[in-house]
Amino acid sequence: ALFLGYRGMKRREKLRLSGADVMEAANAEATREDGSLKLLELIGRGRYGAVFRGSLNGQRVAVKVFSSANRKNFLSERSMNCLLQQHHNIARFLTAEEKMSTDGHEESLIVMEFYPHGCLSEYLSLHTVDWLTCCRMTHDVTKGLSFLHTELHRGEQYKPAVAHRDLTSRNVLVRADLSCVLAGFGASVELTSTKPRHPEDDDSMAVREVGTVPYISPEVLGRGLNSALKRVDIYALGLLYWESFRRCSDLFPGETVPLYQLAFQKELGNHRRSEDMQVLVLRDRCRPEFPEAWKRNSLAVWSLKETMEDCWEQDSEERLTAQCAEQRLAGLKLLSPHTQLDNHRSLCHSWRSSQAG
Ligand code: ADP
Ligand code: MG
Ligand code: MG
Repeated sequence: ALFLGYRGMKRREKLRLSGADVMEAANAEATREDGSLKLLELIGRGRYGAVFRGSLNGQRVAVKVFSSANRKNFLSERSMNCLLQQHHNIARFLTAEEKMSTDGHEESLIVMEFYPHGCLSEYLSLHTVDWLTCCRMTHDVTKGLSFLHTELHRGEQYKPAVAHRDLTSRNVLVRADLSCVLAGFGASVELTSTKPRHPEDDDSMAVREVGTVPYISPEVLGRGLNSALKRVDIYALGLLYWESFRRCSDLFPGETVPLYQLAFQKELGNHRRSEDMQVLVLRDRCRPEFPEAWKRNSLAVWSLKETMEDCWEQDSEERLTAQCAEQRLAGLKLLSPHTQLDNHRSLCHSWRSSQAG
């Protein structure tokens, strides 16, 4: 509730929302609530911090603690959280504070809603899911990403397009009702506005599309670097789909559902080094293998595989946009996983034409 006040702000004011403004608000809150924030149990370790189950005024919350070495990621996660609130598929941020820890180090805290099932990869390693549930969960992730990637102007309100840059099944959290939210914005960046910006707005983290004619490179002249960063997220989305649907019981009729695996776990084992990834993914163009059971001709499986492949295309320009992936998932939800493909050529055609472009 602390940051609701920013929603009505003018675009420029909002963009210039500095760390100091946010901290002022956060400190006011922290002082008032001093002593009421308790850390109870370590529930996860991310790349930039440790996550605890805690309580704030008796409400169950999750608290992410960043060490001073990761302060930059704290700042970016906090400002992203402020920009991105108000979407059902984005993790809910409650407050942030900076303080001295008991051993005299500076610590930064982000307090957010507690998601009882933890991250998506945790959930999927413990549970299998039926077709509709799996479609809903992955659709939620896609809706969150599509919101992230979209620049929005709603009257006085403004939300820049944002690239997540660390989309994984560990950065998706699962609510009690199995709906999903995107989290882990420590590496995210704001992308340049397509509308002309005021020069004073230049203190944001946006990746600028700059250059001097005729020195501007073809990729910037083309879709631009902003779009390249979005397509990096889409590749990861394809892998996340694979991990999720491999745990879908309806896609393994009459057999045991395979155990949860991270993408490329089979190929690389648990020691995943980027040199090996380079050989596997870049040179050999390898992608996660589809299970035997998916060779059967169900329309749902066929469309699903096509969607994954369209996300993890080698040529990034060929990848789906998040909006397009969102439509695909909405379409998949309507299919029965058992409908045979041969009987539904026309359905197939209509799927293709409805998804064209
Ligand atoms: P990092 O950005 O440092 O990688 P994350 O935000 O991804 O950190 O959090 C690390 C892990 O902690 C997650 O994968 C998840 O298991 C757990 N976690 C994070 N936030 C929450 C939350 N709000 N509720 C429940 N578990 C969480
Ligand atoms: Mg993480
Ligand atoms: Mg993260």
